[in-house]
Amino acid sequence: MSLLVLGSVAFDAIETPFGKKDKIVGGAASYISLSASFFYNKINLVSVVGYDFPGNFIKQLNNRGVDTRGLQIVKNEKSFFWSGKYHNDMNSRDTLVTELNVLENFDPIVPEEYQNCKYVVLGNLHPVVQSILLKRLEKRPELVIMDTMNFWIESAKKELRNTLEMTDVLIINDEEARQLSGEYSLLKASRIIRNMGPRYLVIKKGEHGALLFYNNEIFYCPALPLEEVFDPTGAGDTFAGGFAGFIAKSDDTSFDNMKKAVVYGSAMASFCVEKFGTEKLLELNDIDVNERLNMFLKLSDMGF
Ligand code: AMP
Repeated sequence: MSLLVLGSVAFDAIETPFGKKDKIVGGAASYISLSASFFYNKINLVSVVGYDFPGNFIKQLNNRGVDTRGLQIVKNEKSFFWSGKYHNDMNSRDTLVTELNVLENFDPIVPEEYQNCKYVVLGNLHPVVQSILLKRLEKRPELVIMDTMNFWIESAKKELRNTLEMTDVLIINDEEARQLSGEYSLLKASRIIRNMGPRYLVIKKGEHGALLFYNNEIFYCPALPLEEVFDPTGAGDTFAGGFAGFIAKSDDTSFDNMKKAVVYGSAMASFCVEKFGTEKLLELNDIDVNERLNMFLKLSDMGF
């Protein structure tokens, strides 16, 4: 049994109202794997980097138990580079640069040792790459969790719809849900999106928490009010990692367990935004995670 994570491992340049970083390690799969590693220890990464990527970060992933045999290193190309600038509200951002580099011709090869995975997270990548990975798995995983972004909703909608048909859980933000469904109401959007394939839908609303939709049920988890938010980059991926890591650890895909996974995902995301890039995730320990979970439980204890 294992959790397979597909996604970008990258360099990011980030500007927020609180500071600027020119070239730090990021990428959806970096955040997902690190976050999931706090719950589960059989995490198998499929991704690609270039000759310029620091081996030290790969070691840090390995130290957290992440298997990187599926991380391809392309000798004559640069790593994926993304740059974004956040607005004052820290919820919205502009993408300034997307240099695909190694991602342009990325072929997601699944090492033999990664076959028979029970859980898969398809991190934010071209939907065709996401679907190729799924088709290469000899056995259909029990749960396919997927993330995407506005970039793919705009540029590869047909391919995205195809991947969605193979997905069980979609995790996106409110803006993406509206864009994908063409509906402003998140309730209406959730029905339309679940008709596209995923039985479960998580809609993240930044500092306003996250919603989980399943059949006629809705579960809401608030976000923890924080004094300082330095950098929201990767918060969504960190959420997905915590969510998937907890599901894999508990080996339970019921709606009731998914509610708990949403709370763990939210707790992990609340750490991510406290420092730039992956810095905070790399310095956390299990005690921090438990304390944060208790803060979430207190926050929404209605005392009945
Ligand atoms: P998030 O803040 O959760 O949306 O994720 C941010 C991460 O996504 C950054 O670390 C980027 O490197 C990565 N990213 C941004 N655009 C893309 C893209 N088009 N494909 C793959 N990864 C991306």
